[in-house]
Order: sequence, then C-alpha cells, then structure tokens
Amino acid sequence: MTGMDDARRTAAELLRQTTGSDLPEWRPTFDGVAHEPNAIAPVCPDEDHQESEDPSFFDCCPEPIIPVDPPLVEYLVALLNADRERARGVR
Ligand SMILES: [Zn+2]
Repeated sequence: MTGMDDARRTAAELLRQTTGSDLPEWRPTFDGVAHEPNAIAPVCPDEDHQESEDPSFFDCCPEPIIPVDPPLVEYLVALLNADRERARGVR
C-alpha cells in the first residue's frame, strides 16, 4: 500500500458519487469567464455536450470543477489521466 493508493482511494469516494467512476478521465475547463482554461473537471458524459467544441462547464457536467492556475491545467490533466491509465492497468 502506497501513499498514492491511499490518496486515490480517498478521492474515489467522492468521484464515484459525482461521476459514477472511481477513475474518471479529466479535461481542461473554464471556471467562470476566462480567456484560457483555468480549471479541471471530469470529462462530461452528456452526448449533447461536445467538449472539443465547447470545453466550458455546464449543468450537464459532473463535479468537481477544480480551479487551477492556467499554466498548470494541461499538466494536471495529463498527470491525472496518466495515473488513471496506470491504476486501471494494475487492476
Ligand atoms: Zn457537460
């Protein structure tokens, strides 16, 4: 058991409630009005919400939306999605 496993398990309790998945895929998004992505959120499962066309955060989108300094958005999304792939591969 590593610290990462414990942390992932703690996060999974919330993420399961909000997204239905212990390990959701993450994406850049906007927290309010901004010129560039300034938050991260789980990928939206709504078929009517094409995130490639509009990455904004709407009522259809699962929580949480996590405000992030813009230079860190892509990095954190990449980290979370890489960890997701790693954790899924381990199971
Ligand atoms: Zn959505």
